[in-house]
Amino acid sequence: MEFGNGNGTGTDNCNCNGNGIRNGNGIGNGNGNGNEKVKGANVIKMKPMDSELLREQGHIMVDFIADYYRDLQDSPQDFPVLSQVQPGYLRDMLPNSAPDQPESLNELLDDVTKKIMPGITHWQSPSYFAYYASSTSVAGFLGEMLNAGLSVVGFTWQTSPAATELEIIVLDWLAKLLQLPDHFLSTGHGGGVIQGTGCEAVLVVVLAARDRILKQVGKTVLPQLVVYASDQTHSSFRKACLIGGIHEDNIRLLRTDSSTNYGLLPESLEEAISHDLAKGFIPFFICATVGTTSSAAVDPLVPLGKIAKKYGIWMHVDAAYAGNACICPEYRKFIDGVENADSFNMNAHKWLFANQTCSPLWVKDRYALIAALKTNPEYLEYKVSEKDAVVNYKDWQISLSRRFRSLKLWMVLRLYGSENLRNFIREHVNLAKQFEDYVTQDPHFEVVTTRYFSLVCFRLVPVDGDEDKCNQRNRELLAAINSTGKIFISHTALSGQFILRFAVGAPLTEEKHVTEAWQIIQKHATKFNRNGNC
Ligand code: PLP
Repeated sequence: MEFGNGNGTGTDNCNCNGNGIRNGNGIGNGNGNGNEKVKGANVIKMKPMDSELLREQGHIMVDFIADYYRDLQDSPQDFPVLSQVQPGYLRDMLPNSAPDQPESLNELLDDVTKKIMPGITHWQSPSYFAYYASSTSVAGFLGEMLNAGLSVVGFTWQTSPAATELEIIVLDWLAKLLQLPDHFLSTGHGGGVIQGTGCEAVLVVVLAARDRILKQVGKTVLPQLVVYASDQTHSSFRKACLIGGIHEDNIRLLRTDSSTNYGLLPESLEEAISHDLAKGFIPFFICATVGTTSSAAVDPLVPLGKIAKKYGIWMHVDAAYAGNACICPEYRKFIDGVENADSFNMNAHKWLFANQTCSPLWVKDRYALIAALKTNPEYLEYKVSEKDAVVNYKDWQISLSRRFRSLKLWMVLRLYGSENLRNFIREHVNLAKQFEDYVTQDPHFEVVTTRYFSLVCFRLVPVDGDEDKCNQRNRELLAAINSTGKIFISHTALSGQFILRFAVGAPLTEEKHVTEAWQIIQKHATKFNRNGNC
């Protein structure tokens, strides 16, 4: 049964076509002032959330998605990992305006197959190795489904007590898996909140830290506020500072290099702070990263935290990608020193199988966050919140509306169990290690940074020390590899060098995909040699 072809079940005087979609006979003349009942011939009435239609079409959709995951593995030739379409490709394939009458789901899915799929870069392909993965799982998918089904908006406790309370509990669970200090738990002054993305997380803590310092030293000093991070820090930090009114010139992105594997040198931070203090600036924020976007570099939290504490600076830890690995005891050492941080963020949608988007953020002092973000419109007032007895997550984030994201995290944690999650992560790291071994054994290539997690940074080695030519060859190699559609890897720049990135994290990736990927890379590198481009 589909839109437009069933037998009607409507109760009004209408021509029914089933599934709650009916050809109505009355409603709207288009000239009203908005206070009249709208009448109009030929308006199609539909019931947007008919449970039987949902059941039937939900099954069709789940089958469609399950087939997609099957085909990604069985018929990879039909799914170029990096979409090969040209900009604007879709414009000519779709009508200029939305349809007036309903179409069938089958028609629509047919369009998805023929018109949308060519423009999909298949992040879920087992041969996807670009950026950091978009981590998915059946549990995460089901959680998203349940979330979409319930579609509650838990901005205050009252608007769905379970949404607020589950989030608090699940983030306490996750904090314990990460062995975060007790002050990040809901039982103390801190607590966790699920932000949509890492970008939102860093923004809210910059705002909280800014308001905290302005409260101490006076509102007029905004132009003197300075912030620190390494030059490897995610661009969202700069954006957050600019949104927060921090002057562009007061954003200190301290230089890193290969001598620290691109981690921030504590001495650089202390020197910059001393210099700024001497000039009358007010240092108030440092963003440390564990697992940078570019090369998964790690800033040393222990010494950085000591410096932050010494100068009363808010330290935020951005562990968007690598934080996930820290549920494994062997990787927990990378966040040693988090005890001195004021906030900590990781993206469970990057490597904890929690489907886009899910970005847990913990703060040491929830009142700082609330002070910066609380709003009190009368229409949201209710009795319990007046007593401050509950959490109102609207005051921990930018937007008012929020999704019930903790559902999927809860489902991931329950349906897999932490031991399985640790093993999934370890498997990815092992696959990355395998790739690293391939690279190391080939004299045409080199690994350029120490690998800590599941990202390998590598490149074709320079010939005769010519770095410019080397950059060009690596750029061309990347384009050649990705144009095959067989695998997708990405790139970065480190110390002026063009670097290839191979990041393992797609849930379907197995050893054979890594081996195949390496063969494709090698084959194209050899072609370069034969063509005399090397
Ligand atoms: N921080 C790091 C280290 C990242 O790698 C990323 C994204 O890759 C972000 C922040 C931004 O995360 P989001 O895309 O969730 O905003």
